[in-house]
Amino acid sequence: MPASPPANPPLTPLARKLAERVAAFGPLSLHDYMEACLYDEEHGYYRKKDPVGVDGDFITAPEISQIFGELIGLWAGEVWLQMGQPAGLRLIELGPGRGTLMADALRALSVLPPFLSNATVHLVETSEPLQKMQRAALATAPVAASWHASLEDVPDGPAILIANEFFDCLPVRQYVFEAAHERWRERMVAFEDGAFRFALNSTEAGAVGAGGSGIEDGAIFEERPAVRGLVQAFATRSPFGALIIDYGYSRPSFGDTVQAVSRHRFAGLFGAPGESDLTAHVDFSHLKREAREAGLSAAGPMPMGEWLLRLGLQARLGQLTSRVPDEEAQDLRRGAARLADPAQMGALFKVLALTNGIAAPPPPFLEWSS
Ligand code: SAH
Repeated sequence: MPASPPANPPLTPLARKLAERVAAFGPLSLHDYMEACLYDEEHGYYRKKDPVGVDGDFITAPEISQIFGELIGLWAGEVWLQMGQPAGLRLIELGPGRGTLMADALRALSVLPPFLSNATVHLVETSEPLQKMQRAALATAPVAASWHASLEDVPDGPAILIANEFFDCLPVRQYVFEAAHERWRERMVAFEDGAFRFALNSTEAGAVGAGGSGIEDGAIFEERPAVRGLVQAFATRSPFGALIIDYGYSRPSFGDTVQAVSRHRFAGLFGAPGESDLTAHVDFSHLKREAREAGLSAAGPMPMGEWLLRLGLQARLGQLTSRVPDEEAQDLRRGAARLADPAQMGALFKVLALTNGIAAPPPPFLEWSS
């Protein structure tokens, strides 16, 4: 008997919806495909479940070591002092996950009571399940917290903003270079024979932010359109200090960095839309460029390991390990090493500070970046 052709895996509800969209309107840009996978009203990845933690799809720095959030709390305290201790401070977090970072930060800030009595916490979160976890994590927090669907909804006033692994979630456009014609074409997602696959847009892409000559045929360039609007929203606030932590690259680069992760493993981009986390590396040079154009000052990016060590990771680790049994101390040391070791998260992850109306670069940065 002839073998039947290999069956495609059953389509997820979102795959069916997207296939219909492609049938009606033609291929989607990769950007719109990512956006639907992450944020579709009914089936988007971030609408549905808690992706963070050992039982979820990926683990993040605040879930690895409490010291991460604590040092960020102390950093926020320093920046508030640099601002001249304004009243009515907004402590904002974009994409707060399980609320662990903010809970650890506020606990550490108990060393600076005037900060706590002058601040309110504002969490920008689109996922309902995660909002619920954040409410639980902050139930006994020493500061009032409120939730917002977007940064624009956070009331005006002096602000300090934290974003850990937030920018990597924002969808990217990808462009592919055709050397023979010296032109870029946008990468699209088509649906054929029951499966999604990459395609190229039939027309040439407009302005693509990749400069320079001698670009190789087939080179891929990524752009993240949401960055501009976000940093412009930052720039409407003063005094203002933002801390952006994410994995990514410091210099403009070529390459496809879009990845799908499910249950701590890489998954296919098209296998199960809406069921796995889709991210792409953060281009810190782009963030800085947009920030400067919006009128902000930038310091960094600095490798996360170096940033944590300069802010006192070892001292805090010493304090914590001195009062617990050996086994627990080992766990604490392993967690801290995972964050700081360049071979683990310490170099791939980077820290960038963006400020408005603050005279000196926030610690541990000694100068503004050029
Ligand atoms: N900062 C957390 C979680 C990182 S996961 C941590 O370090 O553990 C990304 C977070 O951003 C999740 O909370 C997700 O629901 C949220 N998120 C993703 N896209 C968002 C958007 N466009 N607006 C607001 N929150 C978003």
